[in-house]
Amino acid sequence: MRKLIVSSEKCIGCRACSLACPEDYIKIEEAESEISVEFPPGCDMQCTKCVDICPTHALTLTNDTPEKKSVKLWFEMAECEACGRFFAPKMMLKYIIRRLEDTGLADEKIAWLMLCPTCRHSISH
Ligand code: SF4
Ligand code: SF4
Repeated sequence: MRKLIVSSEKCIGCRACSLACPEDYIKIEEAESEISVEFPPGCDMQCTKCVDICPTHALTLTNDTPEKKSVKLWFEMAECEACGRFFAPKMMLKYIIRRLEDTGLADEKIAWLMLCPTCRHSISH
């Protein structure tokens, strides 16, 4: 059993690790304005998918003895700037926007990111 360590400073709540986990060990809980990601203390599988997919390098697997308890992190959801619906973790959007700004992408394209999928769809059709 390896120890799974998550950095609460690096994790942005994007859920990629949970989607990638073949064993469903990383749990997501959604409330209206918040989302949580719960990480198991360790993992008994010969696998590194969660570590490999994490865009912020927030996860590490080591050969240390795992803690007894899982770690649950909560993230505030952002509201769609058109309809006000909660649709994505704020930290994740900030991370994407920062990366896009580094590439010099125009502000209006970045503003599009602050819309929920339904509003994006209605604007583009
Ligand atoms: S190492 Fe693999 S099985 Fe274990 S928690 Fe990560 S993705 Fe899931
Ligand atoms: S993939 Fe990384 S940043 Fe995204 S929820 Fe998992 S640990 Fe956090």
